[in-house]
Amino acid sequence: MPAAGARTFRSSPAFLVRALDMGEADRRLSFFTREAGVLVTVAKSAWRSRKRFGGTLQRYVLLDIVWTESPGKMSVLESAAVLESFWELVEEWGRVRHADYLLEIASELFPQPGAKPRVFDILRNGIRSLAGGEDPQGAARKADAGLLAVGGWGPDLSGCRKCGRGESRSFRFLPSEGGILCDSCPPAGGQPLSLGAVKTWRALQSGKGASQGRLRIPKMITEELRMVMPKYIEYCLGKPVRSLGGM
Ligand SMILES: [Zn+2]
Repeated sequence: MPAAGARTFRSSPAFLVRALDMGEADRRLSFFTREAGVLVTVAKSAWRSRKRFGGTLQRYVLLDIVWTESPGKMSVLESAAVLESFWELVEEWGRVRHADYLLEIASELFPQPGAKPRVFDILRNGIRSLAGGEDPQGAARKADAGLLAVGGWGPDLSGCRKCGRGESRSFRFLPSEGGILCDSCPPAGGQPLSLGAVKTWRALQSGKGASQGRLRIPKMITEELRMVMPKYIEYCLGKPVRSLGGM
């Protein structure tokens, strides 16, 4: 057992999710990290930390951070260095909004402490794609599918949840069913999904990272999935996604 007041140094690649000044004294910084998942740290003395960390503590930058943990205390940020900048994405509001969306859903879907290498890879790849000029909707849907699959939320897209048919001209997606229904099976309602959209989602959730990154999603299918996937994420979270407001 560590001695009282013992500090443990830890480090991880990280994205800054939120920065909040707490009066003159401290600055509270929330990160999504590869090695510890969601991490809230305090940077002692807001103005001194600005000087100390300079311009490195920005959003949309892959950081390498070092923090200390002491029993019963909030983690303290010790240093931050830039590993890779994705700052290009701020040139376009749509890309910024989607980067914010990815940071929010990764943090909200995976709030438990502990290493999150797969989630972190999905987040980093998504932000890198946004900075690299990929269609923001396509990049976001790839991340949606990956994060849902990693978290075990499925959904089950193998076939109609009632009769099992895997091929139908079109399906309907019902969050409460955790999957799709064909046109013949009750209950009615849900958001329509073409077979092409279902197949695309299946491919995205299969989690073959490299091929997923290269997959180009036709615009029409992106539009269909946009109507379904973020809503399903909100259903899994049980609350609205803030960054979706006005999207
Ligand atoms: Zn059916």
